[in-house]
Amino acid sequence: MDESVVRKYLTAGDIAERVKRRAEREVKPGVRLLDLVSTLENYVVELGGRPAFPVNVSVDHEAAHRTPYADEESTIPEDGVVKVDVGVHVDGFIADTAITVALSEKHRDLVEAAREALEKALSFVRPGVRASEVGAVIERTVRSRGFKVVRNLSGHSLAEYTIHAGETIPNYRDPLNFSRLKPGVAYAIEPFATTGSGVVHSEKRVSIYAVKPSTVYRNTSEEQLIEAITKKVRTLPFTERWFPELVALLGLERFRETLKTLSKKNYLISYPVLSDTPGSYVAQFEETVLILSDKSVIVTTSKNTP
Ligand code: MN
Ligand code: MN
Repeated sequence: MDESVVRKYLTAGDIAERVKRRAEREVKPGVRLLDLVSTLENYVVELGGRPAFPVNVSVDHEAAHRTPYADEESTIPEDGVVKVDVGVHVDGFIADTAITVALSEKHRDLVEAAREALEKALSFVRPGVRASEVGAVIERTVRSRGFKVVRNLSGHSLAEYTIHAGETIPNYRDPLNFSRLKPGVAYAIEPFATTGSGVVHSEKRVSIYAVKPSTVYRNTSEEQLIEAITKKVRTLPFTERWFPELVALLGLERFRETLKTLSKKNYLISYPVLSDTPGSYVAQFEETVLILSDKSVIVTTSKNTP
């Protein structure tokens, strides 16, 4: 892997790590989700990175893909299990990392299960190791603490301006996954532990979208809107909060409706909130690792400042 690319991954990772540490301090009961994500996304830019996707704040049984709407008033609940998932890119090279903050002692074991699963998985990661074996380590660790893994969420390879680049790191021993970790590739490893069913479903709620690459549009105004979005974020995930100029032009309601319509027409990919069963709790930790020819490097930690 090109040395300048390695340096960009390490820079993105270092920024992501600082933002994550800040998230730990900012997650408190009563804090507005909107204020939390704005603080963290602004901090990414302040540190010299760009958000690779909207900061996700998924609460309790929500596992992923929740980011507040531009006019949302909801706050962090008392006793919540709060996942903060942060993506930072430097020239398209992405660091993807997440933590869980449990605001009540009663969820400590769940959070520890996910944290330990990631720690064990990372100690196992090296060039040539099977993705399925990493999954087996995660599953064994989470189960030994009395919880389930979320089976239909997984880690993934990363590529330039691409968050899910095709390869999967399962959170269980998947006999159908034959891939091995390849030198020169970055992977996000992200175990989820749950008190629920271990399978997440899509909610109606959608606040994250991405432009589908290379589409032909039939309608000029739609094409212009997609162009304005692509100019800012390319094909990376985005949210309505990031386009105050389009909100000013169309009004929030109409902009939101347009995004819905464009995703129905298949011009946008939508990322609905993914949740386990109501009343359950989900914890997640995630780090990005870079596989080099002879070793693996965790990029989302401050220990390898470029
Ligand atoms: Mn993530
Ligand atoms: Mn990820």
